Amino acid sequence: MDAAGTPPAASIRSPYASEINELVELARSARVIVAFTGAGISTESGIPDYRGPGGVWERNAPPTLSDFRENEETRRRYWIERRERYGALRAKAPNAGHIALARLQAAGILSTIVTQNIDGLHQKAGSDPGRTIELHGTAHQVRCLDCGTIWPADEIQARLAREPLPDCGMCGGMLRAATVLFGQAMPEESLARAFEAARACDLMLVVGSSLVVQPAARVPEVASASGAALAIVNNEPTPLDPLADVIVRGSAGAALGAFAKALLGKNQASGSG
Ligand code: NAD
Ligand code: ZN
Repeated sequence: MDAAGTPPAASIRSPYASEINELVELARSARVIVAFTGAGISTESGIPDYRGPGGVWERNAPPTLSDFRENEETRRRYWIERRERYGALRAKAPNAGHIALARLQAAGILSTIVTQNIDGLHQKAGSDPGRTIELHGTAHQVRCLDCGTIWPADEIQARLAREPLPDCGMCGGMLRAATVLFGQAMPEESLARAFEAARACDLMLVVGSSLVVQPAARVPEVASASGAALAIVNNEPTPLDPLADVIVRGSAGAALGAFAKALLGKNQASGSG
């Protein structure tokens, strides 16, 4: 209460203890919980998000697919940049948010993780790769644009030392990271699996997404329209806030850490037991 006796708005109270409690209650009464994550879950691992000033795309706009296909110079520049930057991404470690979700998944409380991220940190934290849907692909693989063969990024990175423009070992075709470019269609199978998970869950937990990138942001919308409760952990408002049952306006790592601790107990949530 402030001096005028007005209770503060639920979403701005700190440190979110009552929002976390509401989230825990929703989780306890849910049968199937699905998480939907965005770049905001990885900022605490030192990977900038998309929106913020200095975000990745602001500094380093990726080429369009047609520019990439048509210009050898674009491809050369692309691989110079990949060679400089991939090592840094590969060295990033999952944070408390990724670890909490992985532990909830291992404990059978969280079913599927649908992520917009390409950093692979959910799997690095121990999430089940078979139940982690990467809507925008992954930076840890390279795909041939011609025959579709997938190569480990490490293997192509090793070749970059002697080949500035690596080609596909199967067909000689053009290679690019297995990520989805702006304006490019999303992998249909991943999107279909994500919508299926959204329709099947009764709690959708959104973490660190501005929910403005389509069609990915349709996933939580579909969950809500199918009757699931919606929880949003994000440090700024999103367009789906009016649909949310609980909003935690705070750090993904701290919020998910507290959430997992409440559901799993201290040792299991932090990894020491
Ligand atoms: P976004 O950048 O549009 O939104 C991130 C949201 O997370 C913002 O609203 C921000 O306020 C919030 N946020 C940032 N740090 C937070 C924290 N520690 N705790 C709570 N909230 C936090 O991200 P998006 O919705 O995922 O869309 C961006 C697009 O760019 C996606 O398509 C994604 O594929 C791509 N991208 C991926 C990565 C990655 O793999 N880590 C990084 C940048 C961008
Ligand atoms: Zn090929």
